[in-house]
Amino acid sequence: MRNPVAVVGAGQAGALLSIYLARQGHDVTVYESQPDLRSTDIGAGRSINLALATRGIVPLIDVGVIERVDAITIPMRGRMIHADGDATPELQPYGSKTHEVIHSVSRRDLNAILLDAAEATGRVTIEFGRRLVQVDFDSSNLVFDDGSTAPFGVVFGADGAGSRVRASIASQKACRFTTDWLDHDYKELTLPGSSDGRHRLDPNALHIWPRGEFMLIALANPEGDFTVTFFAPKSTFDALSSRDEINAFFSTEFAGFAALTPDVAEQFADNPAGRLGTLRATGWSFQDRAVLVGDAAHAIVPFHGQGMNAAMESVRVLDRHLRASPGETTGAFRSYESERKPDTDAIADMALDNYIEMRSGVTDPDYIAKRTLALELEQRHPEHLSPRYNMVMFSTMPYSEAKGRATAQAAIIAASLGNPRIDIDELVEELPPLPELDELADPTALSTS
Ligand SMILES: Cc1cc2nc3c(=O)[nH]c(=O)nc-3n(C[C@H](O)[C@H](O)[C@H](O)COP(=O)(O)OP(=O)(O)OC[C@H]3O[C@@H](n4cnc5c(N)ncnc54)[C@H](O)[C@@H]3O)c2cc1C
Repeated sequence: MRNPVAVVGAGQAGALLSIYLARQGHDVTVYESQPDLRSTDIGAGRSINLALATRGIVPLIDVGVIERVDAITIPMRGRMIHADGDATPELQPYGSKTHEVIHSVSRRDLNAILLDAAEATGRVTIEFGRRLVQVDFDSSNLVFDDGSTAPFGVVFGADGAGSRVRASIASQKACRFTTDWLDHDYKELTLPGSSDGRHRLDPNALHIWPRGEFMLIALANPEGDFTVTFFAPKSTFDALSSRDEINAFFSTEFAGFAALTPDVAEQFADNPAGRLGTLRATGWSFQDRAVLVGDAAHAIVPFHGQGMNAAMESVRVLDRHLRASPGETTGAFRSYESERKPDTDAIADMALDNYIEMRSGVTDPDYIAKRTLALELEQRHPEHLSPRYNMVMFSTMPYSEAKGRATAQAAIIAASLGNPRIDIDELVEELPPLPELDELADPTALSTS
């Protein structure tokens, strides 16, 4: 590989990638636009905590940080549905197996662990406060917003959805991309803990208040509070301009949440709204000079809790291709994209589908009947069927395979619910056997209670 090796962006993808590259024997410089989050407070409003699942856990096992990650995660064993009105919240478990839980993790704390591990390799230098403006391939320099430059041989673009590395590859006509923006935005709020630091809702569940066109979700933080995210059409945001309107809206639509969050109107007025989009790119690399990874290549909407998991899985796939073709970087970059692109396209689609499931499906009797039947079938045919959510969250099968299998399973389940005389067990047994988990996947790697 050409030297010097540069990574732009020290998010989950960039920090993890620098560890893998160091492990391959490269000296790496990471350029990050923000200050060091280990010594600076990051502002509110950008997905403070995230759901970590098997595809993200495997690379963390691989690079040897999983024990440190275990100390900062909170397991969530299902969705706690807060239906309209006074109904008691109801838990819909994610699965029947002990390891079928997802884990709430602070973005900041996870990144700090990865940055520490990167520096501990002795091969990674991280330069904070360096915002890339463009990659100058002719002079082999990275150009930053303060006018400074840094030489590079190969650059890895892990600089997120608005990637400048991607723009530079596109300017060489090597990459084409589109972003489909959703007509819905999001805003983060905090549901405070009790005065003695305890959670005021069950911390071991992902809470959802589904309301049809909009919803709230909440994930617990170790400090006793919850990070709550409000997802809604832009028109709903536009209609909430005064504090009275905000208070009235939350007291009517989310009475339980509003009662626990007396300053909801202040928070709503103060915190920024974020946009949600799906980035589809073709041409993730330019010669042996530049390649994209993580959100820079495949940003998705957050409704399957998979963006970070997919980013980290992509890093591991890239590492595998680079190790398989030492000295043939261009080919490794291309084969990495060929393998990975169908999968990231598949999770992009499934993430969009899941928005409807979360904001309205989870309380729909038809959805509940299908999901219940899928879980029963999984019990009867554990080698042939796993519900889609579980294939995405708790397996390492390629996303495209999970999507294809889910379509076939959904057709069988719909046919059987429409015609009870169909022998559904026979149809399920005809599905090809489920693939084995990745050899590194250890269902006991993170605490599940
Ligand atoms: C509301 C919300 C909830 C989410 N929930 C989940 C979830 O539960 N589970 C999950 O798996 N995913 C979730 N995601 C997605 C997840 O946040 C991203 O997919 C993931 O962070 C991508 O990691 P990354 O390292 O590729 O990009 P990023 O985390 O965006 O990192 C990019 C890094 O590059 C830096 N950078 C950007 N531009 C430049 C530049 N020009 N020069 C230098 N540095 C630069 C940035 O400062 C940043 O540190 C969520 C996203 C949102 C918006």
